[in-house]
Amino acid sequence: MTETSQSIEIEQCRKIGAQALRDLPDLIDDSKLTEWFFQFFYDGQACCFRCGAELSERSRRSFLDGRVGSCRACGKQNRFFGGTILAGIKTNATSFLLVAALLSVGVSSRDIANGTNLPLSTVRMWQKKLNPETAP
Ligand SMILES: [Zn+2]
Repeated sequence: MTETSQSIEIEQCRKIGAQALRDLPDLIDDSKLTEWFFQFFYDGQACCFRCGAELSERSRRSFLDGRVGSCRACGKQNRFFGGTILAGIKTNATSFLLVAALLSVGVSSRDIANGTNLPLSTVRMWQKKLNPETAP
């Protein structure tokens, strides 16, 4: 190994964690993420938030694509994150998930904001939503 390639390797080691933290939300496969959320929030069942009826296949597809899944039984228009803690969150769900993961292992909201380039106010708002007892 030459001195130059060794210094390149050291530089890469120094940068990879910070770069990964910033870029991870863009590297996540959206369809896998949707499936993950679908399993986590709905246990794989697309049901109406109001009456509990199972959505038709067409409504289910629409629901999973992030559009409205209308209920034939009661007419409610169900949105994918409508019945979850992510309802009303304006930033993308991937960033929220990353913040939730980092908070779960004790990373401070300030360190998360610095590492992800998300506003500290956003990270603290999500922290308050996820874990009101520990939020500043
Ligand atoms: Zn319904």
